Amino acid sequence: SKVPSITLNNGVSMPQLGFGVWQVPDDEAEKAVGTALEAGYRSIDTAAIYENEAGTGRAIAASGIAREELFVTTKLWNSEQGHDSTLRAFDASLERLGLDYVDLYLIHWPVPEKDAYVDTYRAFEKILADGRAKAIGVSNFLPAHLERLIGETSVVPAVNQIELHPWFQQAESRAFHAEHGIATEAWSPLGQGKGLLEVPTVVEVARKHGRTPAQVVLRWHLQLGNVVIPKSVTPSRIEENIDVFDFELDDEDLAAFAALDEGRRLGPDPATFNVG
Ligand code: NAD
Repeated sequence: SKVPSITLNNGVSMPQLGFGVWQVPDDEAEKAVGTALEAGYRSIDTAAIYENEAGTGRAIAASGIAREELFVTTKLWNSEQGHDSTLRAFDASLERLGLDYVDLYLIHWPVPEKDAYVDTYRAFEKILADGRAKAIGVSNFLPAHLERLIGETSVVPAVNQIELHPWFQQAESRAFHAEHGIATEAWSPLGQGKGLLEVPTVVEVARKHGRTPAQVVLRWHLQLGNVVIPKSVTPSRIEENIDVFDFELDDEDLAAFAALDEGRRLGPDPATFNVG
């Protein structure tokens, strides 16, 4: 494949770039994921709450690509947290995907008010031990949530998938993850198409390299060591977003990107997001 892999803390390989499908309706997901697989993506990021696991699964089945060449991630929704409800929700996700295992299963949000992520994660450890997930991890966990999880359970999460883009660079979380062997996966890596790709610095770095703004933002993530999962339903953009392995940003570019950090979240704050 054209996409390099990183090695997770349990030895499993994960492509450093994958395809995200948030907000893609189920009937369009099959087409979009199919386009991504044809373009060379081998990692797909879905979630129960996206309601497109079935379409994602249909695209995987139709692709004819060997299962072991794919890396499929899904996530447990907040309302299903708790030990037994997690086991049931996981079965339902596998059923919708039409798979007998996922490569990565994530707790979607910590939901601190519920205080159930430790019990939830114990169910994840069972799923891992049964081989029905090759790796387990979390999403939107703050360092304090990770500290508690690591203290009270036995498997250090392989991944924490968090909001991360040039406006919100997450230095503290990245340092915590590095210290504990947790891979950092960036959600909304392109800033959700909300103006980041029109920022003058980004446009200038793109022009300098003869690439697009999306491509230089993805390069910035890759050179930081992040896993990225850009989303698009437009075939030309799907192709553009994976065509980022034949050039490099230099120190000057990286310094210019560092200066874009505004601590600006586009999504909810995990400390207070208790929906579901
Ligand atoms: P993103 O940063 O990937 O941006 C996607 C948007 O950027 C597209 O809708 C389009 O408007 C634009 N875009 C994409 N490619 C482009 C290109 N080449 N040129 C110009 N514009 C382009 O945003 P996202 O979808 O929010 O995040 C990516 C994935 O991360 C999601 O699909 C999902 O899988 C995951 N995610 C996870 C969480 C979580 O809580 N764990 C939250 C949000 C997203």
